[in-house]
Amino acid sequence: MGGIADRIQTLKRSLPAGVSLVAVSKTRSLDEIMEAYNAGQRLFGENRVQELANKAPLLPVDIEWHLIGHLQTNKVRQVIRYVSMIESVDSLRLLSVISSEAVRAGRVTDCLLQVHIAEEEAKSGFDRKEIEQINWSEVIKSVPGVRIRGLMGIATFTEDEQKIRSEFGHLAALFSLLKTNFPGSNRLFNVLSMGMSGDWRIAVSEGSTMIRVGTIIFGERIKH
Ligand SMILES: *Cc1c(COP(=O)(O)O)cnc(C)c1O
Repeated sequence: MGGIADRIQTLKRSLPAGVSLVAVSKTRSLDEIMEAYNAGQRLFGENRVQELANKAPLLPVDIEWHLIGHLQTNKVRQVIRYVSMIESVDSLRLLSVISSEAVRAGRVTDCLLQVHIAEEEAKSGFDRKEIEQINWSEVIKSVPGVRIRGLMGIATFTEDEQKIRSEFGHLAALFSLLKTNFPGSNRLFNVLSMGMSGDWRIAVSEGSTMIRVGTIIFGERIKH
């Protein structure tokens, strides 16, 4: 044994019940993904449309693919048939395009609203205030092709644990606030995706229900 399968099993053993693991497979080969698959992993995350559209048709159909990277509206059509969830919805316009494309494909697509919690300017997402102010009942009526399942966030890349904890804490607070009276079915709004290789323990202790982890499963990535 050893390698990917072992690392997945070890990680799964240390996750509390109710926290799911998205194996982030961007830049990884089909063989590496199959190694994880053969270890029982079914949930994978990709951050690029083209890469997802290239890989998905070549891999088992019972893999659930999450798109976790920025999505341009003109690329929604390319991924809609492959994704079980789009975690990186960062505008109402994108939400609306996803809905139209999902309806067109005869689907309903699960989505998470990405919230900007890090200090870096570059990270995309809704502002926390914006999320609180949007009239979600109105929005939901206009997007029959999507189900808003919860929130996703990326913390600042830093050694400062207090800072990471506070960013995740803010996101978790916003999540519980919305969860209490999110329109539609409350029970559906139940996913809080936060935590990556470097900060998943902090995320889980702050209430994450879904971590997105690549490096500690597959090893260091060559940047792309
Ligand atoms: C790459 C990526 C991850 C995983 O990062 P690791 O540090 O390799 O665990 C998680 N979330 C998003 C949005 C990513 O782009």
